[in-house]
Amino acid sequence: MIFSIYDFEIEIPEDWSVEISKPTNYEVGRILLNAPNKLAIAIIWDSLSRFKDEFPTAKDFFNYQVEHIKGNRHVRSVDVQPFEYRGSEGHSCDFHRIHYISKARFTREHHHIIVGLGVYCEKTNRFFVVFAEYSGEKSKDYDEVAKQVIQSFRCRCDRAKVPRNTPAST
Ligand SMILES: [Zn+2]
Repeated sequence: MIFSIYDFEIEIPEDWSVEISKPTNYEVGRILLNAPNKLAIAIIWDSLSRFKDEFPTAKDFFNYQVEHIKGNRHVRSVDVQPFEYRGSEGHSCDFHRIHYISKARFTREHHHIIVGLGVYCEKTNRFFVVFAEYSGEKSKDYDEVAKQVIQSFRCRCDRAKVPRNTPAST
């Protein structure tokens, strides 16, 4: 089924539940999509103009995140696999799967997976991040559905009546 709110939509299975964090509104928010098998996908959004100067594209934002992970001294390796995303036209976006391995002293190696999509919406001045984060042990159960659901995310600002809070530039 399609879950749609605040001019965006995502397709989730019917047995998933939806949790809307307070306070959530058109400009800033957080929604959690929960599968019965405990896979959780978050949609968070915030003012694009807060990020745009530092990160001109969604890919720049994630490159920075990856460098941050690499900078952790417990992280042994980081692998980024780009995914295809056919999003709404005119939106800067980046979709990928990050797999990194960490190991602290006296502990076992731990595999971390982050499937993440970033979408810049200039029209509504919003930056969306849609992601799932889970342990490598869950990879077999979660990978396919996480990718499929996140890939279905669409900014539907074509429905937005008026551009909101858009900086006067361009
Ligand atoms: Zn949009």
